[in-house]
Amino acid sequence: MLFSEDRLVHKNTPYGSIEVICGSMFSGKTEELIRRMRRSQLAKLPVEIFKPTLDTRYHDTAITSHDSNSIPSTPVEHSSNILLLGSIAKVVGIDEAQFFDDELPDVCTKLANAGIRVIVAGLDMDFKGQPFGPVPSLMAIAEHVTKVHAVCVRCGAPANYSYRITEDDQQLLVGEKESYEPRCRACFYRSQ
Ligand code: ZN
Repeated sequence: MLFSEDRLVHKNTPYGSIEVICGSMFSGKTEELIRRMRRSQLAKLPVEIFKPTLDTRYHDTAITSHDSNSIPSTPVEHSSNILLLGSIAKVVGIDEAQFFDDELPDVCTKLANAGIRVIVAGLDMDFKGQPFGPVPSLMAIAEHVTKVHAVCVRCGAPANYSYRITEDDQQLLVGEKESYEPRCRACFYRSQ
């Protein structure tokens, strides 16, 4: 059993690591995740990619970024499913991490401690500019955090906020160009 206590404390077990790629909508998070996963595939490492079942904007079994650069992935209901399904991989990618439950950081720690390189992509903030779901905790426990930026549609500055154009007030509104636009700090807070 991969995640038994024996294995976790065994001196010769090589440890993995956790990387987080985060930023606003349209910041290239998924593209960066795909780039890192492709490099792992080129290195002939077994890879597995997971995303929450909630995010079904495009295809059921492919991570698709906004530029249609896609890679196969498995939709899962709960982060604990990743432990079972990802344990044979050497590199596990997780997209749209903000939509997962609060157990995701713990799942990522178990995977990394079992020797797996875990690469997580997700929104760091919701449309109100508040930390989003399990992503802030993941940023805290990760070895590497990469913040990527979109371009502010108002002024052209680097954007790290996802401004919601529609009236809907739910945190979990899944959508793309018709619902959100990337904005810099000044253009985001000026409209609040
Ligand atoms: Zn701006």
